[in-house]
Amino acid sequence: MLLKPSVHCYQKSLHINNLAQFFLKSMLIIMVLLTASDLFAKSTNIKGIRFWQSPDKTRVVFDMSANSEHKLIVLKNPHRVVIDIKQGGLDIDLTKVNINSSLIDRIRTSRSAINSKNGSTLRVVLDLKRAVLPKSFTLTPIQNVGHRLVVDLKDPQKFVSNKKAVTRVVDLKKDNIFVVIDAGHGGEDPGASGKRGTREKAITFSIAKKLAAVINRQKGMQAELSRKGDYYLSLRKRTEIARSKGADLFISIHADAFKSRKVRGSSVWVLSDKGAKSEVGLWLEQRENNADLLGGVESVPLNNYGADVAEVLLKIQTERSVRLSHGIANKVIAELGKIMVLHNKKPREAGFIVLMNPAVPSILIETGFISNASDENNLRSKSFQNKLANSILTGIHQYFRAHTPTGVKMAKLNSRYNNSNKLSHRIVRGDTLSDIANQYGVSLATLRRTNSLKSDKLLVGKHLVIPTKS
Ligand SMILES: [Zn+2]
Repeated sequence: MLLKPSVHCYQKSLHINNLAQFFLKSMLIIMVLLTASDLFAKSTNIKGIRFWQSPDKTRVVFDMSANSEHKLIVLKNPHRVVIDIKQGGLDIDLTKVNINSSLIDRIRTSRSAINSKNGSTLRVVLDLKRAVLPKSFTLTPIQNVGHRLVVDLKDPQKFVSNKKAVTRVVDLKKDNIFVVIDAGHGGEDPGASGKRGTREKAITFSIAKKLAAVINRQKGMQAELSRKGDYYLSLRKRTEIARSKGADLFISIHADAFKSRKVRGSSVWVLSDKGAKSEVGLWLEQRENNADLLGGVESVPLNNYGADVAEVLLKIQTERSVRLSHGIANKVIAELGKIMVLHNKKPREAGFIVLMNPAVPSILIETGFISNASDENNLRSKSFQNKLANSILTGIHQYFRAHTPTGVKMAKLNSRYNNSNKLSHRIVRGDTLSDIANQYGVSLATLRRTNSLKSDKLLVGKHLVIPTKS
């Protein structure tokens, strides 16, 4: 676009006799051409920086103006990680960057650019608090984000303490039905987005937290989140957490999006060795599986999963887990059907990577279509999120009461309130009756009546019976 007027001017100038005017026009042409060559030069500028802090690592994401070539260098005394970006530039003020990291002290560029044969190199220095295990890779544009350069800094100290934590949790959960709740997406991977700007990663995290809270109030049940903040976990890592903690159930929480905004309702997915057959199923499957590409963790390309999946399916006996998953999914669907439209009345089957965990029954709940206006409104509402959490809890509670994994657990689950089939709520400091009613989506009057409460005064440590809708 810039070149066209200049060519036009140049042609015109040939017929001009006025020398001064000719030179003036020539200067203009040169200026325009210089600007154009600047635009076409392969400079890759840093346009923004984001930090994602997870329990054991910091992820630094550089938004780049184009695909970048870089080199990662680790330096000691003091500990630094250096990123040399070939023909790199800086479009932001590094002193104004808010560093959210347990490992990085300061971010700066070195005083002078290194001159190489191919042009200048931008040197970005991360001054560290201690030694780290670094890794870097680039990500190509997807959805609304462009080229990215990602630097992962693993904390060696946390890596060790995490292993200790795993042993502790396994010890703790012996007597309880242990559920790992996985909030889909996170960090650099926002998941689907709605018209009102709702981001799937935020919705899934909010629902997952609520579900974990209500599960942890049940006798004989215990829950933990796979991701505990806004950061990305690879799909393999999510299943690994459930496996390493000896979970009895893994629940991945998601929200759908579809081309047609009319499509709405929830669905529950279980692992299928055939994968999803329907068009929607295929679309969703690709979407969920793409997260590994999106987040770029472990840098495994999507097409590498074919053999992996086949291997997993061939090598291990998934029958038991899949059978259990179906049973749990059916119970959850029955409960969800009481509070919302069901997109599918039966469990759907797909080859989602998060469901590939032969030792752990696993379900994936699409809690609604974020692309549908009324589903989006519901998913944003705290009270609807509470209802969702309570319905999921009721479903899995019912399933495990009928199919308890061990004698100890069965006794625990069934001995409450003389074989009462009701859910319970352990009262903790700060609880109010109306909070509890909200949390489980029941009315205050029903809660008072069920527990024969004469006043709203609550005793810490006591259990309230939570009536379930029938
Ligand atoms: Zn999702």
